This record gives sequence, C-alpha cells and structure tokens, in this order.
Amino acid sequence: MKEIKTELLALDVGKVKENEPLASHTTIKIGGPAALFIEPSSIEKLQKVMGVIKKHGINWRAIGRGSNLLVSDKGIDGVVIKLGAGINGLEINGTEITVGGGYSLVSLATLISRKGLSGLEFASGIPGSVGGAVYMNAGAHGSDISKVLTKAHILFADGTMEWLSNTEMDFSYRTSVLQKKRPGIVVEAVFQLSEGNREEIVALMQKNKDYRKVTQPWNYPCAGSIFRNPLPNFAGKLIESAGLKGHRIGGAEISTMHGNFIVNAGNATANDVLALIDHVKDTIFNLYGVKMETEVEIIGRK
Ligand SMILES: Cc1cc2nc3c(=O)[nH]c(=O)nc-3n(C[C@H](O)[C@H](O)[C@H](O)COP(=O)(O)OP(=O)(O)OC[C@H]3O[C@@H](n4cnc5c(N)ncnc54)[C@H](O)[C@@H]3O)c2cc1C
Repeated sequence: MKEIKTELLALDVGKVKENEPLASHTTIKIGGPAALFIEPSSIEKLQKVMGVIKKHGINWRAIGRGSNLLVSDKGIDGVVIKLGAGINGLEINGTEITVGGGYSLVSLATLISRKGLSGLEFASGIPGSVGGAVYMNAGAHGSDISKVLTKAHILFADGTMEWLSNTEMDFSYRTSVLQKKRPGIVVEAVFQLSEGNREEIVALMQKNKDYRKVTQPWNYPCAGSIFRNPLPNFAGKLIESAGLKGHRIGGAEISTMHGNFIVNAGNATANDVLALIDHVKDTIFNLYGVKMETEVEIIGRK
C-alpha cells in the first residue's frame, strides 16, 4: 500500500491514510483499520483515485457516514474511499436540487425544509450521506429516495461516469442497481421536490424526529435497522415477541427500545454484534420459521 499511497499523494487527491481505524467512521463505533483510507477532495480527484485503484487491481469500497455498516474487527484489506467534505456541492434551481454524494442527508433535508421545499421530510432522522441513501434507497414514514430522485451521477470501477435515470437505478425496498448489478459510486444526485408550506414541512420534520426519539435508541452508538423487514412481518416486532429485547452478548445489546436495533452498550466488538445477529436469526427461525436477512452491511476481513 505504501507505493499506492505515494502515487495518490503525488496526484494530490485529498486525505490519504494507512491503517485508519474505521471505528471512527461508523455510527456504531466499531471496526478495525482500513489498509488505505482516502477522502477525495473533489469528484475529479475521486476519478483519479479510481484510475489508480484500477491500475493496481485492488479492492475498494465507498463509504459515506458509516450509518449502515458493521466493519470486521480485523478491518479491511483494500481501499476505503470516504465521500464527505470534498464531494458535497449543492445547487438549488427552483424545485430541482443537485447535491454531492458526500452531503449529509439530514443537513440537506433540514436546509431545504426551511426553503419551503417538500419531498425529503422522511429523511429528517436518517443519519447517512446522500450517496449512501441513494445506494440503499433509504426511506421512512412511507417514503424513500426513489420517490424524489430524478437521476444519479455514478462513477464506475472502470473510471467512466454516467447519469442513471430513476428507472435505471432499479430501486426497490432498501436496494438499488448499485448493490449487485452495477457497482459504482454516487457522486451526485438530482432530486425533484415540490413547493410546499414552510411551516407545515418544518412541523412534519419535527414530528418525525420526535417519533424517533421515543422509539429508537438515539443516545447509543448503533447502525440503524439490523434486519430487513421480512414482509409482511416486521423485524422489530418478531424480535420483541421472541423476548429478545435487552439480550446481550459482550458489549452488544438488542435495544430495549426497538427490537431491530443493536446498540454498542460499551466496548462492543464486531464479533459480539455478529454473534447477536446469529442468535436472533436462529431464534426467529426456530420460533416462527422466518429467515431474517441483514439490512446492515457486514464488511471486512473474516
Ligand atoms: C439511528 C439510525 C437510524 C436510521 N434510520 C434509518 C431509516 O429510517 N431508514 C433507512 O433507510 N435507513 C436508516 N438508517 C440506516 C442508514 O442511515 C441508511 O442506510 C443510510 O442511507 C446509509 O448512508 P451512509 O452514508 O451512512 O452509508 P454507509 O453506512 O457509509 O454505507 C452503506 C452502504 O452504502 C454504500 N455507499 C455509501 N456511500 C456511497 C456512495 N456515495 N456511492 C455508492 N455507495 C455508497 C457503502 O458502500 C455501503 O455498502 C439509520 C441508521 C441509524 C444509525
């Protein structure tokens, strides 16, 4: 990695660090080091990073705010590219907004609500980046990214960039084309919003936030919903009725507030969380015959 780091520094791509602990970049505060960690300073520099990655044939992964990630205690072999401050442009053109993949979704939703633009009220408590939200088709309160996204600008592993339309993004429940069929990095997204009543929008956002405060463990490090809802069932309800709320392995605990959240209740390791996930899967399958699938992305060295 030394040689690659030197090459990237010569290209002045932004911050480049070796063995960066990922616990500092995930909301659950867990995760070993990334062999190489890069925070590109612009979309153009990110494209240069991709060129170097392609030349050396190394594994890579883009991350945003780490709010849907469980990173192994042993860390990640390849390159982790964090989209943040360098890739957070914002352009508001009437009811259409173009925003960088590294922009905070909560900050975006708050900012546009104050301008009386409606469409992102659902996002007020989703602590991810715009890019992570597009990749996940993040949603809540009956809406999601697919309802407002017009197109997304994607950087692919071969270094090419392409605008994908909403249809081409192939969104469905917490998924998009980027997850399996066409891996790539969301560098920009265009949202079509509508004009609304500023006071009503701000009030709805506050109501959504207040609801989270009484239903989710907002004061503990966590990674959002651990399992996808096995529709028509709800993961949280199944876990609660199985009596698993409060169950603890090491420092990882199933939240006493919400069955589908695992919190880092104190020095939890990824192995603690993984053991708890397996315990939930086994219990729910044995009791109800339902197979639970994780929503949180589990990555890194085994
Ligand atoms: C307290 C809490 C509440 C939450 N509530 C909700 C909720 O109500 N609804 C909901 O849907 N989610 C929720 N989440 C989960 C999470 O916030 C979302 O999934 C969010 O969209 C993840 O964005 P991120 O930037 O943190 O992505 P990360 O966690 O950094 O990454 C998640 C995945 O997205 C990929 N990714 C990240 N950035 C990009 C990019 N620019 N281009 C391509 N791929 C990228 C990563 O490779 C990874 O596979 C919650 C999480 C927490 C901690």
